[in-house]
Amino acid sequence: MRFVHRRVENILLLASRPRLMSWPMKALQYQGPNQIEWVDMEEARIEAASDVIIRPIAVATCDLDWGIIRGQLPFPAPFILGHEFVGDIVEAGADVSGFTVGDRVSVSFQPSCGHCQPCGHGHSAACREVAPTSMFGVGAVSGHWGGAFADLIRVPFADNMLVKLPTDLPPEWFTSVTDNVADAYRAVVPYLTEGQPSRVLIFGNHDSLPLYATLFAKRFGASKITYCTQSDKAADNARKLGAEVERVTDWPARMAAHDITVCASLDPAALIAAIRSTAAQGNCTSVGVIVEDVPVPMSEMYMRGIHFHTGRVNGAAVHREAVEWITSGLIRPFDVDTKVVSWDELVDALLHRPAAKLVAVRG
Ligand SMILES: [Zn+2]
Ligand SMILES: [Zn+2]
Repeated sequence: MRFVHRRVENILLLASRPRLMSWPMKALQYQGPNQIEWVDMEEARIEAASDVIIRPIAVATCDLDWGIIRGQLPFPAPFILGHEFVGDIVEAGADVSGFTVGDRVSVSFQPSCGHCQPCGHGHSAACREVAPTSMFGVGAVSGHWGGAFADLIRVPFADNMLVKLPTDLPPEWFTSVTDNVADAYRAVVPYLTEGQPSRVLIFGNHDSLPLYATLFAKRFGASKITYCTQSDKAADNARKLGAEVERVTDWPARMAAHDITVCASLDPAALIAAIRSTAAQGNCTSVGVIVEDVPVPMSEMYMRGIHFHTGRVNGAAVHREAVEWITSGLIRPFDVDTKVVSWDELVDALLHRPAAKLVAVRG
């Protein structure tokens, strides 16, 4: 109850603030490899009538964040981190019709309008109303949308971007529904055929996405799940989720043929192994952000008729369905190794990575 009261007070305070004054807010800034710091910033504000301002309540790390924090990805500092989140609406633009101040919502990690042609086809990752590769929490390379490890964040196209959350379930269960959870789903579930044996092979280390993929494969009836990993922690978690584990030091050149293969590693060797381990007419999906050009075995792919998939997940397009996977109990995201920390513990946890998934909850 104490938590609820504090939340209501915050909402009232923020909703009634004078709009012409500039107020500072705290946000967690990536400043370079292994350098992150809370900084004061100008408060997020409504800029278009379809915007809302959200106070993030629970924010998760995406698997991408760990590479960013260690300086392994070409995302120039500084910027505010955080793009998998849920929160409370503290202000709504005049054109927002489906939501109101006080609503607790899940937010798509990927700004998209919901009404352009790609959005109409379910391709929210290709929305034409925003810059290509738009997303929160990675800075200039994806459009300066701000980050969710912050007191406030502006969310555009609110009627398309938000889904209301149930009030009787922990909000931290829903942080990743449009990103790592939806990405894991799309790599496995569409290729499972009811009544047909389907062997699933996942290449991944101690990251949430390949473990969510294992979870989905199990729940949707894969006949066999193999988790190939270089990580003991990932091996333990994958076994608990129902996978057989191949613990390796170096990625193998290939493994036995599987109908569905998933590469969640950024190492090109894992990608090639996933392709070569895909059965005839099977499906191989690369979900990692591999930033270099990789020669692929086209001859094998052609001869066996392998279907290869990659690209950003269309997170907003499956948002409502993804929330339902959790509210219905179909998947329990915390079966994947997850650590919940307070806002105050966040910097230390980000620098030391205590689990595959980290969720910071505002206390
Ligand atoms: Zn992400
Ligand atoms: Zn659009």
